[in-house]
Amino acid sequence: MSEGQGYDLLLKGGRVICPASGIDGVRDVAVKAGRIAAVEESILPSAAAEVINVAGKLVLPGLIDTHGHVYQYVTGRFGLDPDMVGVRSGVTTVVDQGGPSCMTLPGFRKFIVERSQTNVVAFLSAYLVGGLEGHFYPNLYSPDCVDIEATVRSATANRDIVRGIKGHAEIGGFARWGIKVMEMAAEIARRADIPLYVHFGQLWGLPESGANGEDADTILERVIPLLKEGDVLAHPFTRHPGGFVNREGEVHHVIQAALDRGLKVDVGHGSHFSYRLAKQALAAGVVPHTLGADMHGYNTQVPEIPIPAGTPEEHDDDENHPFKGQARFSLTQAMSSMMTLGIPLEQVVNMVTVHPAKMLGMEDTLGSLAVGRTADVSILDDVRGRFVLRDNEDYRVIAERLLEPVFCLRAGKRFDADSPILPQAIAA
Ligand SMILES: [Zn+2]
Repeated sequence: MSEGQGYDLLLKGGRVICPASGIDGVRDVAVKAGRIAAVEESILPSAAAEVINVAGKLVLPGLIDTHGHVYQYVTGRFGLDPDMVGVRSGVTTVVDQGGPSCMTLPGFRKFIVERSQTNVVAFLSAYLVGGLEGHFYPNLYSPDCVDIEATVRSATANRDIVRGIKGHAEIGGFARWGIKVMEMAAEIARRADIPLYVHFGQLWGLPESGANGEDADTILERVIPLLKEGDVLAHPFTRHPGGFVNREGEVHHVIQAALDRGLKVDVGHGSHFSYRLAKQALAAGVVPHTLGADMHGYNTQVPEIPIPAGTPEEHDDDENHPFKGQARFSLTQAMSSMMTLGIPLEQVVNMVTVHPAKMLGMEDTLGSLAVGRTADVSILDDVRGRFVLRDNEDYRVIAERLLEPVFCLRAGKRFDADSPILPQAIAA
């Protein structure tokens, strides 16, 4: 029936999983003028100018990484090349978590959003300075360094690229200033009417005066009441103090009630992911909604890319620093990681397509292969075997399936998965 349609491109014979359109099965996907033109059981090859055989591969709505750090150069070594994390790793949309601030957002728009092939949006930092050097200097994140008015104004005036607010609820900050900064961040997100994404798990070291009576295990129960429906609790599986699993090894009692009233959970994999704790939290019924890879220059090995002259020295002298240790990584590796924990593929696909699209308030434009949508499509290999995956405390698990990006279409344009930060499979 499709003959003579004059499609630009046909993806033939792959397993299409599009939860938004209720499809899971072998389908052909046709693209025309950068949009999805047809998704059918069989489309004649002669109907398209170019045909790519994707039999045996997964064909998914363009993957969305909810937690990236791509404000390259401005955030020092922290910020990665957006397209290395994005289209060259099979990911069509990357959300920068807290890199740009109300002061630096214009640069983010001009030098990152407009120049990237990847679709880049941001959760605006609640702090004036944003994520400079990966939040290395704690004193830049005090209540004096938050401007509620300016940040609400910036978020509201730039809604096309600002889809949420980023804040941190962790013991280093609480020991210095108590809960004040979190109250301010929650107010910004409430007034801007966008989600607040909250980092849990220790980030900053304690001040010389110590913890000042603060206890990491009480932070969740004090912060959650500040949050509204749709706000996001991040790094549930962190091994650092203040995550979902407390020092007694129990999943915090406030989590289920938080989920019941519409709060969401993002994995924020990267440096804040422990298989040990993930198994405990999953056994207690905590299933994440979205899956950010949380890659940045301190935890991601970037081969063959010279560091620009004048970049500050790397801050990795502290053995216990959460960012210690680098490896190649990808969102698809984080997906494999979820499957290794027993989460079915179909559910993992939700975590990188429909769920994040909804979190961004962009479910009308992202996360679906429905006809008429912008042709953002990720094509993955679903490799079977026995592979070793490890977290950053060097806990190892065996994966029997490994998802690997092959290429993606971003608005119909093809990008091969040739990013130098993609991990190589390690056979068990
Ligand atoms: Zn992060």
